[in-house]
Amino acid sequence: MNALERLARHAGKELEEASPIEVLRWTADTFGRRFCVTSSMEDAVVAHLASRVLKGDAPVDVVFLDTGYHFEETIGTRDAVEAVMDVNVITLTPRQTVAEQDAEYGPKLHDRDPDLCCKLRKVEPLEAGLERYDAWVTGLRRTDSPARAYTPVVGWDERRQKVKISPIARWTQDDVDAYVSEHGVLTNPLLMDGYASVGCAPCTRRVLEGEDARAGRWAGRAKTECGLHG
Ligand code: SF4
Repeated sequence: MNALERLARHAGKELEEASPIEVLRWTADTFGRRFCVTSSMEDAVVAHLASRVLKGDAPVDVVFLDTGYHFEETIGTRDAVEAVMDVNVITLTPRQTVAEQDAEYGPKLHDRDPDLCCKLRKVEPLEAGLERYDAWVTGLRRTDSPARAYTPVVGWDERRQKVKISPIARWTQDDVDAYVSEHGVLTNPLLMDGYASVGCAPCTRRVLEGEDARAGRWAGRAKTECGLHG
């Protein structure tokens, strides 16, 4: 076990009960500028929390993956975050445009092989984008879905050999809603239009009453995650 992994495992126990702000203060104290927040631009809650810890001359890096398949509302949310928040938005793009991918693999790869499409358009660009950091911060929550029920507040990302921090892992949707309302945090307009979780347009639908928040992602398929968190 290397020193970074040891640090992650120790912090995971120490910070299990800590508030998101305490977790992010520890993150900034421990990693300085060598961490980023990743955001799908579903909302800017974690970016907002992090901006309270790192601000001014050294705003936090907020990394967004532009797959080329996003709803225009998601791109609009990214632009609004960039314009009004004290954060440094970094947009990562895949190696190929959608047109280039279509030419090589055929159109609508997302319908035929979504795992490959996610690998090309999400997993590989994120991995390249994370190279400069020792730690990454996510907005994962344990109540998102059964697959996320054991998300650690601080854990070890074995595949990428980085510390993975989920400061709002213990929050419920009510906690998120209360924070958004208290701080006037930017949210994706699609959340007010029946979408509970916002991903790429071809792979996201509105959720039905009683479904969990991620039921609208890759609906009708066994796939529940894009590979960023698996
Ligand atoms: Fe492709 Fe869908 Fe994955 Fe987006 S979510 S990268 S469109 S398979």
